[in-house]
Formats: sequence, structure tokens, C-alpha cells
Amino acid sequence: MPEFRKDPVTGRWVIISSQRAKRPQAGLGHSSAQPEVCPFCAGNERETPPEVLAYRNDKSRPDRPGWSLRVVPNKYPALVAQSGEADCTDGFYEARAGVGVHEVVIESPEHVISTGSLDERQLTAVLRAYRDRMLRLGSDKRWRYILVYKNEGREAGATLEHVHSQVMALPHVPKEVADEIDGARRYYQQSSRCLYCTIVENERSERTRLVSESERFIVLCPYAPRFPFETWILPKTHEAVFERGSDDEYAEFSRCLRDTLKRLHRGLEKLPFNYVIHSAPVSGNTRRYYHWHMEIMPKLSQAAGFEWGSGSFINPIAPEEAARLLRGLASSV
Ligand SMILES: [Zn+2]
Ligand SMILES: [Zn+2]
Ligand SMILES: [Zn+2]
Repeated sequence: MPEFRKDPVTGRWVIISSQRAKRPQAGLGHSSAQPEVCPFCAGNERETPPEVLAYRNDKSRPDRPGWSLRVVPNKYPALVAQSGEADCTDGFYEARAGVGVHEVVIESPEHVISTGSLDERQLTAVLRAYRDRMLRLGSDKRWRYILVYKNEGREAGATLEHVHSQVMALPHVPKEVADEIDGARRYYQQSSRCLYCTIVENERSERTRLVSESERFIVLCPYAPRFPFETWILPKTHEAVFERGSDDEYAEFSRCLRDTLKRLHRGLEKLPFNYVIHSAPVSGNTRRYYHWHMEIMPKLSQAAGFEWGSGSFINPIAPEEAARLLRGLASSV
């Protein structure tokens, strides 16, 4: 049974989840070998837990081939949905049952290994699947936050290479998001404006960190990026909630994301990366000042002693230089 434990000094929650160690190539060894049977390929549906969502064009039955996208519970979840145990405190320490939801979005029935190679329709379907799961999980009162993220490439934490991403429902708002919300709230209290809208406006007039723009979205390298080629995509007008988008918006966002990944792939020969979607928490009144966005973090450097010791980052590539290079790499979609 996984467990949340709170660091009594920093207040940070950690998940202790021994189940995760049973994953294939769970990072305890160094093998990058893939399993003989890819559990995410069409025809191998029995290798995964039963699907919770699938897009099917024909009348094929659940957990059989015929799907274009599937969402399944993670076979080795970091958290579990049910628990007989109540929240517990261990005397001096604070702990909670590791309750949550951990799902995998299988983004293609074919053995595609790069998100940038999905066509626009398929990538739009991936975004719609995020929306569908976020809305469904968000309606469960136990969850305060739904986090969507992707690990692509072994260096970025992926154990299986078949294109996939993950959705997690959490009983609390994670620290990264809580910190962003705090900063955005302070700015809003001082200026009655959304901080992210102000960033978008600044970057559109400054232009040195701008990568590309579409009608509704802007792609930019942030002013103080932690990692080389860290890139954000934001809606240009104020919107706190990712999962409230229209099909049109997801189609446009998928074009932006695909274009950005292709630029990154052209510039960087091998591109392990992570992305996260930061949307407003399910409840609470953050919607006036929080602004959803995607953060894409190429995995070119590793957090080392300085980063662990200080919580700061040393980034050898200025965002102005990264954006200039990415602008020059038209993606020729
Ligand atoms: Zn596969
Ligand atoms: Zn805004
Ligand atoms: Zn963020």
C-alpha cells in the first residue's frame, strides 16, 4: 500500500510506493531493453488492466483491437484508488494513505516511439483524452488536483518506449502548482491582473524569447528557464482550465505542440523530454489569476549537486539564444 509522507521541515509530500520497483526496467538496473511483447501495441490488450476509456472508430469491443487511443490504469501505480486505511499520523510525523488515481494514455495502436511523429488528428485525440479523463476524475470529490505529464525517452524516465503519457489524480495540490498559484495570487492582489497574461503580453512585444504564435497560442522560452531549451505553450487570452477547451482549440494546440516538438527534434538530435500540463486545481477560486500552460523540458542536463543543494538551476543556454535557434528551425510539418 503506497503512502504519502510529509517532510516535517519543508512540508513536501513524498510518495513511498514499493509497487513501482516491480516495473520492467524500473530504474534500479541499467538495461534499456524493451519487453518482448509491447503491452501498448494493438493486439496485446490483455497485457494491460482493462481500459477506462478508448476511442474506437468501429464497433470493436473493449480491450480488443480496433481502437485509436486507449486509457488504462497504470499496471504499477504510484497510488491506488481505494484504501481501507484512514489517514494516519505516525506520532510526531504526518502520513496519509497513498490514495489517488494513476492512468496511462496509450497514444497510438502502432508502435510509434516519438510524440512528434503522431499526425495532427492523433495528437488532437490525445489532448481530448486528457480533457475527458480530467473532467471525469475532477468530478470525484476526493481529488484536489489532476496532473497530466509525459516522459519520453529513457533519460526522461520512460520505461516503455511506445508513445504514452500519464494522468494522476491527487488528494492535494502539488507543491510546484501551489507555488505558481501563490506567485500568481500575489501579483493579482497588487495589480488586479493575471501574471501569465502579463508575461504573454511582454513576450509578444519583446519577441526575443518568442518561438512561434498561432491565433490562440504562444510558444516561448521563459525568462528564467531551469533547463536548456525549456519551452512553454500558453493560451494568449486568459483561461485557467485546460479541460474547458473546445475541439477547435485542441486541434490548434496540437498543431502548436507538434510544430514545437519538431523544431526541438531538428535542433537536438536525440530528444528525451518531459512535459506537464498545469491547469487550475479542481476546486477553489484560483481561476481569476491562474492561467493554464504546458511546460516542455528537454532532458539534456541532469540535476546535480548544486541543484539539489540550492534548489536553483544552472542553465548553460540563455532562453534568448534557445528561442532564436528554435525560430530558425521551421518545422516543415
Ligand atoms: Zn508498442
Ligand atoms: Zn491569464
Ligand atoms: Zn507551470
